[in-house]
Amino acid sequence: MSTLTGLNSKPRLAAELCAVTRMLEDMGILQYSGHIAVRVPGQDALMVQRRSDSRAELVPERIVTVDFDGNVIDGDGKPPSETAIHIETMRARPDVHATLHSHMELAIAFTMMEDAQMYPMRARATRWASGIPTHPDPSHIKYPQQGKDLAATLAHHNVALMRAHGLLLVAESLPALISDAVHFEENAKAQMQVMNAGAKPKPLTAAEIEQILKLDDRPHHVSKMWNYYVRKGLVAGTVEKEWDLLEG
Ligand SMILES: [Zn+2]
Repeated sequence: MSTLTGLNSKPRLAAELCAVTRMLEDMGILQYSGHIAVRVPGQDALMVQRRSDSRAELVPERIVTVDFDGNVIDGDGKPPSETAIHIETMRARPDVHATLHSHMELAIAFTMMEDAQMYPMRARATRWASGIPTHPDPSHIKYPQQGKDLAATLAHHNVALMRAHGLLLVAESLPALISDAVHFEENAKAQMQVMNAGAKPKPLTAAEIEQILKLDDRPHHVSKMWNYYVRKGLVAGTVEKEWDLLEG
């Protein structure tokens, strides 16, 4: 995990970051704003896009490396104004290597309803079985203390909604992050469909979650999703062939 070659090399991670950003933009999970970051293995630093670059056209050469004090230490150009979200999350969570901050409409909707809590509904939502907290600060997360407060709301969970603003989703890698982003949106849609039908949501029970996890193979599923989305991106032109992102 911590070698600086192969799958964890900076050029590879920069290419993955561009691919995942472009694919999430294509899906509407990222739009004109929102961003993802990836931890630089073995350093208190992360890679992120420049703040004003189009999410639909990112290229690895323009990715910047930022240390945990917010300084650009490789590349030039300004990182997103909300980079504190990624820095403080990775500082607080050594298990997290990839972070997504998105203004996903469905996620925001759940923060604007009285007495509505988002639950793990679908079988692929066990990732959020520990809970889906909502961070109360609706403002732009610009300062380190705001990032620390958001990381405290996230705590040991794998997602936090941000009141009237968006979400923070965390994973162990960029391929896992895109898989989780897809499943998180699917789950939000499923719960909204139940609520739109006028029914009371019936989330997965603890026993059902345990049953699903007994048979779950997360690395295999992440790999399957990665293969699907990278190939789809290659056909659509959102992923560049020279990034060489397919396994085997
Ligand atoms: Zn934001």
